[in-house]
This record gives sequence, C-alpha cells and structure tokens, in this order.
Amino acid sequence: MKKDYYEILGVPRDASPEEIKRAYRRIAFKYHPDRNPGDKEAEEKFKEAAEAYEVLRDPQKRAIYDAYGHEGLSSQGFTGFTGFDDIFSTFSDIFDEFFGFRTRRGREVPQSGADLRYDLTISFEEAAFGTQREIKIRRAEVCDFCRGSGLEPGYQPEACPTCGGRGQVYQTHGFFRIGTTCPHCQGRGVIITHPCPECGGSGRRRVEKGIKIRVPAGVDTGTRLRIQGEGEAGLHGGPPGDLYIVIHVKPHSFFTRKGDNIICEVPISFVQAALGDTIDVPTLKGVEKLKIPPGTQSGKTFRLQGKGIPRIGGYGRGDQIVRIIVNTPTNLTKRQEELLREFAKIEEEKKVSPYSRFWERVKEYFRQI
Ligand SMILES: [Zn+2]
Ligand SMILES: [Zn+2]
Repeated sequence: MKKDYYEILGVPRDASPEEIKRAYRRIAFKYHPDRNPGDKEAEEKFKEAAEAYEVLRDPQKRAIYDAYGHEGLSSQGFTGFTGFDDIFSTFSDIFDEFFGFRTRRGREVPQSGADLRYDLTISFEEAAFGTQREIKIRRAEVCDFCRGSGLEPGYQPEACPTCGGRGQVYQTHGFFRIGTTCPHCQGRGVIITHPCPECGGSGRRRVEKGIKIRVPAGVDTGTRLRIQGEGEAGLHGGPPGDLYIVIHVKPHSFFTRKGDNIICEVPISFVQAALGDTIDVPTLKGVEKLKIPPGTQSGKTFRLQGKGIPRIGGYGRGDQIVRIIVNTPTNLTKRQEELLREFAKIEEEKKVSPYSRFWERVKEYFRQI
C-alpha cells in the first residue's frame, strides 16, 4: 500500500504550492543522500518525498491524485523516479539552491575575532633596554575537534523547520505579508541538531595560550604594542583579532623618566657644593664620574649626553639629567658648630651672604614705592 503524498510531505490537503515546495525542500535537505551516506531509511524517505512533490507541484497530476489516488496516476502512465540523478535533475532549482543557501546563510558568514588587551608590567631597565617575555592569555581559538564548524563531525546543519530555511517567518495582515527574523534559528535558516561536543556548537574554545613577545627598547607606560593575529579567533573562517600589549613601567628607586631623558637627583654636602668635587653618578650603564664645580647651587642640573633611553622607532638615545641637591648638615659636633660660627662671622664681615644680598634687594624695593 503506497503512502499518501500529503502525509509524506506533512502538509494539509489544501496546502498552497508554496507550502508544498517548502515542505519538500525541508525533507529533501534532511534526507539528502550526501548527508546520510548508506542510510537506507533516509534514502527511501528522500525518494518518497521526491515522488510526492513531483505529483503535488503539478496542478494536473495533483487533481488526478486528489480524485483517483495512486491508481489514477498509474493508469495515466506515471511511474515516479528511477534514481537519485533523475531526482536531482528534475528538481535542480531546489538542489542548486541548497548550495547557494549553505554559503549565503548566517553560520557560514565569516566574522573577525575580537582584539584582546594584555597589561604588562616591566621594570625600568626592561623598558630602557627592551625585553622578551612569555605571557599567558585566555582567548577563543578555533575548535580543533570540529574545525570551527560547531558541528559534531559527520553531521550537517539542517534546514530550520520553522522557517523552512529562509531565516524569516511570515505573517499575513490583510493584503500584507510581514516577514520577521525566525525565532527558532535566529535568521540563520539552519539549525544544528548535533553540536560539537567539545565546543558546544560555538566553533571556538577558550584556551590558555603562551605567547612570546618582544618588548622593544624605549617603551614607556602607556605604550601599546600590537601583535597581529594573536587576538580571539574569528568565526566561520573569519580572520583573528589582534593582541594589544599595554605597557606599565615600574618606578625606579633613583631614576625617573621624562620622555627619552632620565632624571637622577644626587644629594651632596654643602662643603662639596662650595668647594667643588668629582662625584660618582649611577647611569643605566654603570657608574660615571661627574665634576661638580666650586659654588654649585642646589637644584643645578648637569647633562650626561646619550645616557638616557633609546628613542623608540628612531635613532640615538636621550640624555641623563643629574640634579644636584645640596644637603644642609645636621647633628653637628661642637667643633663643627664652632667652625660654622666662625665661617658665619666672616660672611657677615664680607657682607656677601646670600641672605644679606636678598635683604638689600628688599630694602631697595621699599625705597622705590
Ligand atoms: Zn567544536
Ligand atoms: Zn528558522
């Protein structure tokens, strides 16, 4: 006993040609031999549906079938299909559409991966000389089990039964048909019945990844290094995003930085300042001698050329600026105090102390106003 054609396609007897086509397309997609290799039951369903569609899409054949059933058709010489090739060539409009459809629809549209940010804290010296680091980041990578398809290997996406693969569902309001995004498949037109067990169907997995990075000499806090292609994986073959390393430089205990210049404050005694001296100054590349001339004031700066930070992306280096801080002596011994009082007396007699010179300027000012 042959099955009823309307039952095979799962449509009511008064179904429109449109409904019949949609129903057939859904079944043909589901039981397509390419997707069900060696499955006899699927093969049978695929053939049955083709025969049902061949009859119901043709108003004449449909009318005969409605009136006289299978008998009526065979008495007219209708034999159905001989094989798959016969089916494919007869309904080439539908099968060609499958392939277009599979590449056009959402799941196949490539999407770039997101950029990632990694905050890297390095020492003052690493910023000055450059460094290499291996960092660990968590990022989405293409799932190697399903190669990013999101499908359990061996399975294919199926046409969404709600929208018949269109991605849109239609409602009729009077003369208008209003299409909205299919709520079942979110407009993709396909649904995944067997998602990849490793990634849950997303096609990507979060993994911890070690990445070697080279930090060039001369970076500073706020420098962003772009590492192309090391961000999140793209979707459906889309390119990966980039990784941005944001540099934070730890403060140094006696160097500070201003652009490419290094500033170092060196405290000296007031005797060294007054009499002059040759002092040792630390630089990034060892100790340097610096001559302090007699009579050096606190705050005076000396420039050590080329002893600063290499210019990033350019040539040469900045300078090191040595700022002299003259310390006032404390915890004087009796003898030191005596000597200083004697020193002060001479200063007064000379009338050359900075303090007395300052007061002369004050008095001058008040005379003028
Ligand atoms: Zn997967
Ligand atoms: Zn749908």
